[in-house]
Amino acid sequence: MRDSMHDSIISRTTAKAIRAMGCFVLAAVIVTQCAQARQPASEAPATLIICDAMVIDGAGAPPEGPRDIVIQGGRLTSILPSAIPSRCSPSDASEIASTRRIEARGKYIIPGLIDMHMHFIDLVPLDYQYKLLIAHGVTTVRVFSIGEMSPEQMVTEKRHAASGSVVAPRLYIYPFLSESPGDPRFHSAEDAPAVVREWKTKGIDGVKMASLPGEYPDVLAAVGAEARKQQMGFAVHIAQDAVYPMNAVRVAEAGATTIEHHYGYAEASFTGQQIQQLPPGYNFANTPERFYQTGAAWLQADLGKLHASVIDSLLATSVKTGFTMVPTMVSYEPNRDVERAETLDWQKDFALPILLHQWTPDPKNPESSYFHHWTSTQEADWSQVFHRWMDFIDDYKNRGGKVAVGSDPGFIYNLWGFGTIRELELLEQAGFSPLETLHAATEAGALALGNHQLGVIRPGYTADLLVLDENPLEDLKVLYGTGATRLDADGKPVKVRALRYTVRDGHVFDVQALLQELTSEVAAQRTSTPVVK
Ligand SMILES: [Zn+2]
Repeated sequence: MRDSMHDSIISRTTAKAIRAMGCFVLAAVIVTQCAQARQPASEAPATLIICDAMVIDGAGAPPEGPRDIVIQGGRLTSILPSAIPSRCSPSDASEIASTRRIEARGKYIIPGLIDMHMHFIDLVPLDYQYKLLIAHGVTTVRVFSIGEMSPEQMVTEKRHAASGSVVAPRLYIYPFLSESPGDPRFHSAEDAPAVVREWKTKGIDGVKMASLPGEYPDVLAAVGAEARKQQMGFAVHIAQDAVYPMNAVRVAEAGATTIEHHYGYAEASFTGQQIQQLPPGYNFANTPERFYQTGAAWLQADLGKLHASVIDSLLATSVKTGFTMVPTMVSYEPNRDVERAETLDWQKDFALPILLHQWTPDPKNPESSYFHHWTSTQEADWSQVFHRWMDFIDDYKNRGGKVAVGSDPGFIYNLWGFGTIRELELLEQAGFSPLETLHAATEAGALALGNHQLGVIRPGYTADLLVLDENPLEDLKVLYGTGATRLDADGKPVKVRALRYTVRDGHVFDVQALLQELTSEVAAQRTSTPVVK
């Protein structure tokens, strides 16, 4: 959710302070976390065959099978009708040595999930964040920040993660254009495009813009035009201090390939006013107030105009630019029910204690959690915001608009991987069918990244896929690392976890083993020295 103040403040103060104390001198807990070595992933087999699986392609086709999927050199090479005898029961010994086989009778295959809104933080080990994502089937992320890394360091990390030597998703690097301190070029429409060109030569995939001065209309348009020329992505989080005049319609027209979060749509619908009505004492720098008032813009929306000309304009732009909406609903969910967020099932086994500590409401550190005085009335208003926002997202999709999945984890009860799956649930609640939801999490993300060989189970495409014990169309909850509740033969409640393997670039990750590693890591931290804030 990181609205502009959030993005900048969390990275410049909280994270910097934490990083400054760093891996060496803070609590013993952090020393242990930072000392952990990167764990090598298994090498990708030359050939991988997955036999007898039901396939959901991610491009909207219904499940089909049983099929055998053949993967070579990190690519899906063929999808074949199952054979008798099975291709997973070879008779020839030489074949046995060179090929890995996964018998998947009764199992489901979907593409690896793409999370379009990612941050990694310095507070907890990067490996832990990566593992949580892989253990939830997230094989690609578009990342806006990796702790305090510079854009160049982020590119180095991208190459490291891609090497297959670590358990990690594929990274698309979109640094904040406003986060090179001391570079005056960001203030000027004449000079800012030079930064975009420089970034292109450094292997950076796109630009993230989240605040003034980059969101002055002339600077934003100049950056948008240059990003398009360089075939780079352009992700915009419209800050409240920039939303008039740069509402969502205008930001999309200026070349944003994605708009993050919920900002700027309601403002584009205003009639009888052009600027949101705010209490005279409102201060944009006050975090709890800001998170309430940015939502309250939806309560001033003209719903007729929102669903007519605002959607029409966004669709017209999308035809030209591929513009895609990335709502990140999950990151706002505590605003409508903070107790739910505080008591989520996964916290005990999967959240490192220092994260839970960081998310505890603290007026001195409102960027970590602003819920020290969050009222039932604020939750009621935010529930209305969700109704309007969800209706808008669903209507936009129904009329042909592109919507992708992003989770914005790391802050306020939003944990890597769990947040991604929750975003799928929220899309379903907004009105997406399960097939539409999976499409948003796969092909829609790949297209918004400009990668036309990702996000679909199709010959020639990158071999990113998930092997599931259950049908995800029946219940998306089975994708959670904590599983979904079922009854066993004796009628006792048990948790069913469906994700068996995450395959990225042909590398096979054993998800149940990863989940076990994660719970052990968390359990060890819970029993060690308590964190002192
Ligand atoms: Zn963010």
